[in-house]
Amino acid sequence: MQPRILIIYTGGTIGMIEDPVSKALMPFDFSHLMENVPKVKMLDYHIDNIQFTPPLDSSDMYPEHWQHIARGIADNYDRYDGFVVLHGTDTMAYTASALSFMLQNLAKPVIITGSQLPIGEVRTDGEENLITALQIAAAKGADGNPMVQEVAILFENYLWRGCRSTKRSADHFNAFKSNNYPYLAKIGLGISYAQDALARNPGKPLKANFGFDTSVMCIDVFPGLSHKTLHHLVNTPGIKGIVLRTYGAGNAPTARWFIDEIRDACRRGIIVFNVTQCVNGSVHQTRYVTGDRLAATGVISGHDITFEAAITKMMHLFSLGIGHDEVARLMSVPLAGEMTVQ
Ligand code: ASP
Repeated sequence: MQPRILIIYTGGTIGMIEDPVSKALMPFDFSHLMENVPKVKMLDYHIDNIQFTPPLDSSDMYPEHWQHIARGIADNYDRYDGFVVLHGTDTMAYTASALSFMLQNLAKPVIITGSQLPIGEVRTDGEENLITALQIAAAKGADGNPMVQEVAILFENYLWRGCRSTKRSADHFNAFKSNNYPYLAKIGLGISYAQDALARNPGKPLKANFGFDTSVMCIDVFPGLSHKTLHHLVNTPGIKGIVLRTYGAGNAPTARWFIDEIRDACRRGIIVFNVTQCVNGSVHQTRYVTGDRLAATGVISGHDITFEAAITKMMHLFSLGIGHDEVARLMSVPLAGEMTVQ
């Protein structure tokens, strides 16, 4: 049986062409993209597509676009073996995280890819990324089940868990990395899957929930952050949740005003989620006094979660109509393999 794959083309560099006047890259349609990859026909797959109109540079992605992608997958879930999402690299890790939270109990592959150079360019990485993504979306294990049963990012030599990924380079072809989780597959002459790292479906049917509540914000601590600025930020009208990006193992200033502002925010019912600014490693709030003081204010540890997963998870949970305590509880446990709780 021919594998059946649905491609959702959202835009991004992979499908872009040069504006003849300004020479800037702008998104172009799906037919342009496929015309530049005649090799796709050699795969002998049944491929259908859904196209964003107009295709987007991913800097223009909003939660409604994530919902559009997730609906495309959920509505067609039973009709395809796998899904490939073509997407710009700039916000790919946010979309991957958002899809992981929206599509619970996934049992089929959702492979997101794009490229650093447009598909029409001689040295493009887009052709290889597209072909490999299609092959992974069609791959079955020895038991006949899909090899990948989660949202993943395929870029150049690696397949990464979507909600663990971060864009790490604006120039290199290996543009993505998961700094706290091993790769799901290594792409070389063949595709070598890391069986132990791959998620396995719990046997439950797909549960899709498309909500996002954008009443969230991020605060980055830095030496010099003033009381006035912090006070202003934590009192932003309408905010329900803050991702607090802290130093090292989840440490922050111990100044009285800092601790008081964060404690007051927690007492007002704002969820404050402690995520490290380090690219690798985890929050351990009780390792240093500086983290311990912060923990005592009521902030929740983000363990080794990425910023992209933290903010999308928060937006998603706030949309579910559950109470503050339940949001706080769910923030501290992994929902889609997005963090390791030690
Ligand atoms: N600005 C582009 C985008 O994210 C970059 C890319 O696709 O690589 O849509």
